[in-house]
Amino acid sequence: MRQTRTQVAIVGAGPAGLMLGHLLHLHGIDSVIVENRTQEYVIERVRAGVLEQGTVDLMREVGVGDRLEREGLRHSGVYIAFNGQRHHIDMEELTGGRAITVYGQNEVVKDLIDARVATGRPLHFDARGVAVHDIDGERPRVMFRLAEEEQELTCDFIAGCDGFHGICRPAIPLAQLQTYEREYPFAWLGILANAPPSSDELVYSLHERGFALFSMRSPRVTRLYLQCATDEDIDNWPDDRIWPELKTRLRTADGWEPIEGSITQKGITPMRSFVAEPMRYGRLFLAGDAAHIVPPTGAKGLNLAMADVWRLGSALAAHYRDGDGRGLDTYSDRGVRRTWRAQRFSWWMTSMLHRSDSTNPFDHRRQIAELDYLISSRAAMTSLAENYVGTQFD
Ligand SMILES: Cc1cc2nc3c(=O)[nH]c(=O)nc-3n(C[C@H](O)[C@H](O)[C@H](O)COP(=O)(O)OP(=O)(O)OC[C@H]3O[C@@H](n4cnc5c(N)ncnc54)[C@H](O)[C@@H]3O)c2cc1C
Repeated sequence: MRQTRTQVAIVGAGPAGLMLGHLLHLHGIDSVIVENRTQEYVIERVRAGVLEQGTVDLMREVGVGDRLEREGLRHSGVYIAFNGQRHHIDMEELTGGRAITVYGQNEVVKDLIDARVATGRPLHFDARGVAVHDIDGERPRVMFRLAEEEQELTCDFIAGCDGFHGICRPAIPLAQLQTYEREYPFAWLGILANAPPSSDELVYSLHERGFALFSMRSPRVTRLYLQCATDEDIDNWPDDRIWPELKTRLRTADGWEPIEGSITQKGITPMRSFVAEPMRYGRLFLAGDAAHIVPPTGAKGLNLAMADVWRLGSALAAHYRDGDGRGLDTYSDRGVRRTWRAQRFSWWMTSMLHRSDSTNPFDHRRQIAELDYLISSRAAMTSLAENYVGTQFD
């Protein structure tokens, strides 16, 4: 068995684990990142695409923002569509200059992997049998296999950045963890298409046939979503069914509709809200999707993960630099507070914009009234805008 030691063992090379590794490197703290998938798989996974202002600022500040600067699409507003009309919400004006940037999660991951490789610090892909031990003791360990060789990694702390289905959260004794969960009675069918965006901003639409979202990844690629059933079979959605449905739900009275193109990727995403509290047990700290899941409507998942590791990185730096443990002691409480604010916003956006079998005519009229209030009240638009572009990391 190969035995090694580091200061912080990071489980998972998604956005949370990779960004944490980079932040620790800048603070002069050793880390080892252990990921159970291949590098290609991690990079090619198509997921988030909306970065909050705080995520963009962080990437720039820590030197991984060059390509984001060149290729990211800064959006100062968003459209909300219902009853055949599109309404623009000028988020930048309402929030004193904050905006979102459209830049694929896989591009973020690519930039962070490049930065990690440039530091020469360990990043192990394709690790098998990853398990954490002694998380409540002084010397926690991560066990795994690399190319059939058993590895034992001893460390001061473990960062559980291994997503919702990872092994870190389940390593915490059940009695020490409180979980809160909500499943939604619908899912999203998402596509990537080789088609130039026909709108300068994202379009969130409530239609009688259900929710649809128009977004983009680049000046040549659009990303679109349709609300569908939770047990929907993707094989029932050939391309010539997807486009008419998208157009029906998104088309507005002024003639606007998405431009069609060849579909290069499609998949179904379930919608779930989940929170695990606390985000720390002994020397194990949970960050990102390992600790919480939000429905994608509010575009908060990746951004919450970044806020977590920003907090964790600063807390570990204060611990190693000054022996100051206050940041580590408050890591969970501060994270849980931010998580619930994001849960509330994501739930609100989701419930305002989706229809379900249980939506009766009263509920639909109430949704329309809510949207009508949203687009006619500066206070309501400001509330949406400041949540959507994201508050300062805290
Ligand atoms: C379709 C879709 C659309 C989304 N859209 C948005 C959006 O617009 N905006 C937004 O902010 N968020 C969005 N999200 C959410 C966002 O993708 C996640 O919140 C984000 O990936 C969280 O990052 P993470 O690093 O915490 O977890 P992950 O990205 O899940 O990374 C965890 C990593 O840990 C690895 N791992 C798992 N188990 C182990 C193990 N046992 N050992 C070692 N490694 C392990 C995984 O392979 C993975 O690489 C979307 C998600 C989906 C699915």
